[in-house]
Amino acid sequence: MSLIKLENVSKYYKSGEGVSVGMKNISLEFHNNEFIVVTGESGSGKSTLLNVISGIDTYEDGEMYILGEETSHFTAKDWENYRSKYVGFIFQNYNIIDSYTVYENVILALEIQNYPKKLRKKRALELIEKVGLLSHKNHKAAKLSGGQKQRVAIARALAKDTPIIIADEPTGNLDSESSDQIIKLLKEVSSDRLVVLVTHDPLIAKSTGTRLIKLHDGEVIEDKVLVKKEETEVKEIDTAKTSYFTLMRFALRNILSMPKRLIFFTLLQITIITVFILTYISMMQTAENINFSFSMGGNDSSLFDFNTQFMSDQRMYVTRKDGKDLTATDYAYFDSLNGDHYVYKNILNIDENKNLILQNESNYVLYDIMIDTTFAVGNRVQFVEGNMPVNPYDILVSEGMDLKIGDKVKVNQRVADIYSSYLVRNGDYWSIPGVNIGSNQVLNYYVYTNYGVEFIDYNIIYPFDPLHYGMNPDDINNVEVLYMDAEFAPMELIVTGIFKDNYRQAIYINHNTYENLDYGNSFMIQTTSKIELQRIYNQIDRSIYRIISPKLEDSALSSLVAPLIFLFRLFFYIIVLVIGVFLYFILYSVTKNIMHARKKDFAIFRTIGATQKQLGWVVIFEQFFMMNMAFIASVILTQIISIYNFNINTMIRTLTYIDYIILFITFTYLSTRLAQKFNKKTFKLSIIENITESKEEMS
Ligand code: ADP
Ligand code: MG
Repeated sequence: MSLIKLENVSKYYKSGEGVSVGMKNISLEFHNNEFIVVTGESGSGKSTLLNVISGIDTYEDGEMYILGEETSHFTAKDWENYRSKYVGFIFQNYNIIDSYTVYENVILALEIQNYPKKLRKKRALELIEKVGLLSHKNHKAAKLSGGQKQRVAIARALAKDTPIIIADEPTGNLDSESSDQIIKLLKEVSSDRLVVLVTHDPLIAKSTGTRLIKLHDGEVIEDKVLVKKEETEVKEIDTAKTSYFTLMRFALRNILSMPKRLIFFTLLQITIITVFILTYISMMQTAENINFSFSMGGNDSSLFDFNTQFMSDQRMYVTRKDGKDLTATDYAYFDSLNGDHYVYKNILNIDENKNLILQNESNYVLYDIMIDTTFAVGNRVQFVEGNMPVNPYDILVSEGMDLKIGDKVKVNQRVADIYSSYLVRNGDYWSIPGVNIGSNQVLNYYVYTNYGVEFIDYNIIYPFDPLHYGMNPDDINNVEVLYMDAEFAPMELIVTGIFKDNYRQAIYINHNTYENLDYGNSFMIQTTSKIELQRIYNQIDRSIYRIISPKLEDSALSSLVAPLIFLFRLFFYIIVLVIGVFLYFILYSVTKNIMHARKKDFAIFRTIGATQKQLGWVVIFEQFFMMNMAFIASVILTQIISIYNFNINTMIRTLTYIDYIILFITFTYLSTRLAQKFNKKTFKLSIIENITESKEEMS
């Protein structure tokens, strides 16, 4: 039985208005063992014939049989299968991958065929030796001469050990010495398979094959058997399915085979991903804050000057509606509420600005912390060491504060208080009515008046001297106090815990610690989640207590401003989206050019027998690897930047590992989308179109 049989096969090319004939009514039979030389002038249909019999191009009329099987009903998959099991190619333009080494080019064919792993290397090296390139095995193909490239192509075609070898003018671009070598090699391998060689070198045509076929205008004008040979058994090669692991290796090799491209592309992606991450965080924060300032409009929270950026949705403040200070009874009440929470005394009144001064034992000021109403940690207490304050005088400090567990610190409060009051004359002395100047916790007051700053020791009533200010004492009986600073006696505290702080330096102090101070009129309730917070919120008796919980009160107000909030949020999401699309577009255009330049490589992969599906996966893996390498690099890069830049630090630290997972999934999705898009584009063309296009671009 013939290996290939053509029965009145015709192939036409539609070009512009006209139709040109590739081949016309060709009927031929090719047997195993034959060495067929095809000649004819340029345009006579030699390449067309070869492309058709090797299954890289289709035919219109007639029927082609492979081992007796009709092929007119073949699907793309059947052709892929045929190519990978039967055909080895050698083209005039040395169809090898320039960025690969000689060895990589040859082993590729064996890998695609899934040749037994253990034998691959040996076989590849044998063939490289056979074509005389062993000394060049690690040279990049791009650096080889034409003859050497062609020998690589032959080694690769032979590596697969297919029953058919097709060679389309393999010596067309070679000097006569190289050309002789190639023909010699082909002769050698023709002993047990079908070789079809196209040449228009009359010398080769006369002396090489076992049969000579001459074409003219797409028709056979001569078919002459030169040497009669016994037909032998056709031995098909085994092709096992290539594993995904192998495809991943292809992808990695492709990436690494072009280091310059890799570096350029990775840098680009790092830039894009970093810009996107930063845009994402800053836009989300802006959206969040805008939303929040709306909710400040008409509820309890608006009474206080919250720094919204530091507000947590796992925390709320409680005060008494009757204005009295909170007591141990109140504490017990809040503590007993159901839910995972921790109640502690808010050190200071929540509607004032305070300073808290941390000193070491020799009164050296370590930290002078400006505290606002939400002075403590960001989203949740994440302990580095230790736990919540248990004993009086326990203090938790944030990670960045350069204190360790067991350190003793003094806390010194200085409180700025708006005090609409007067220094009132009382004989030679002046006092401030209503100020419990005798409190043994208060060290000093600094009283600010129109005349300057006055210092009041807590147990001395200040001898205000109007003469000092050039005033007649008899003319003046009281002086307006603009505001006062109260300085409290320092307390000795012991660091018992260190936590991660999302934003800045902060401390937690046990609620008992400041009980004695009789200062501060609110509790802070810290929970483990917003749901817990809601749960506790619902249990609190609101006829007695006022709850300040801006994040929860969002919902109370939402009916009013919800549409507006929604619009604003939408606006920021859209900005993120637009920027995302813009960045994606940049990435897309760059990738497009790169993929375009690789069209030839893909065509080669396919002629060797890789299926579209396999190649599709290779491209997906390539994009995936590159994207994620860039993603990891971006994460590391932003972390490094955040060590040196506080603003970036604040932004980056709001990202939790869940955000990173979301970003990872997003980028993975994007990379696969990108890959699929290119797959569609690249594989829309048939192999022959791919080859022709890349040839045109090369010449
Ligand atoms: P050869 O290899 O013998 O030089 P070809 O098989 O390449 O000849 O071409 C045979 C005929 O088909 C020529 O007339 C050529 O112009 C035409 N042809 C080949 N490929 C195409 C194509 N892709 N589009 C249009 N015409 C083509
Ligand atoms: Mg040709």
